Amino acid sequence: MKRPRLAIAGLSGCSGCQLALLNCEAELSLLLEQVECQFFPLAISPVELTGRYDLALVEGCCTSRHDTFLLRELRKRSSRLIALGTCAAWGGVAAMGNDRPRSRLRRQVYGNQPIPADGVPRPVSTVVTVDATVHGCPPEPAELLALLADLLHDTLPLQRSFPVCCDCRMRENLCLLQERGMLCLGLLTAGGCDARCPSLGVPCEGCRGPVPEANVTEALTIYRQKGFDAPTVLGRLRRFCPEWQYGSGA
Ligand code: SF4
Ligand code: SF4
Repeated sequence: MKRPRLAIAGLSGCSGCQLALLNCEAELSLLLEQVECQFFPLAISPVELTGRYDLALVEGCCTSRHDTFLLRELRKRSSRLIALGTCAAWGGVAAMGNDRPRSRLRRQVYGNQPIPADGVPRPVSTVVTVDATVHGCPPEPAELLALLADLLHDTLPLQRSFPVCCDCRMRENLCLLQERGMLCLGLLTAGGCDARCPSLGVPCEGCRGPVPEANVTEALTIYRQKGFDAPTVLGRLRRFCPEWQYGSGA
C-alpha cells in the first residue's frame, strides 16, 4: 500500500508543537514506517515543498508574508490541512498583543531600530480552509499520535467538546476554583489535556483555547461567586485567542 505523504510546517510560533511530536521518540520510528514524511524543515532536509501531500500539519499563526505564502502553497498541495496547536488555531501567544497598535508594540520591543513591517498575527483559518484543529500549547503527545493514526485510517481527528474540568474530575482532583479560590480557567477551556496543570496544583490558564458550546453565562456566574468578575476572567481567556467572542455572559 502506498504510504501517505506528510508535510509538517511551522509559521510564526515557538516550534513547541513540532517538538512535542519529535519528543514521541518511542513511537516515531514505528510511525515513519507507515508515512512518508516529505517536508519537515525543523527535523529533516530537503526543505522545499515538492508535489502533493495527503496531510499537512501547520504550527504557528500567520503573521509574515512568508507565512502567508507557505500556508497557501501547503493548502494548494494538500488533501487535508490541520491547524496544529493554539497559535495555529487561535493566534495564541503571538496574538496576545493584537488589541494594541502594532507600531506601539514594535517600539516597545525594538526601540527606534528600523525593522521590516510585519502583519498582524492571525489564526490559520483566516487565510485558508482548515480541515481540523488539534488543541494545545503544545498539544498532548497522545493527541498528536492519535491524529497520525487517524490519518492512516483516512479519518479526521475527533474534535473535543468538553472542558478541562471533565479531565480534572476524572482524575479526582481537588477543585482549585471551588476549594482554594484560585482563578482556574478549566470551566471554559477545551479539554483533552488530562488536566495536566490542575493535577499539579496549577490553575488552568486556558492555553487550549475555548471549549465549543460552553455555557459562558453559567461559568461566569460561578466565577463571580468566587470573587472574579467577568472582565477579569474573559481578559485572561482572551490571551490565547484574542478574537474569540465568549458569548453574551460578559
Ligand atoms: S501553540 Fe504553544 S507550543 Fe505551539 S507554537 Fe504556539 S506557543 Fe509554541
Ligand atoms: S481545578 Fe480547574 S479544571 Fe479542575 S475542576 Fe476546578 S475549575 Fe475545573
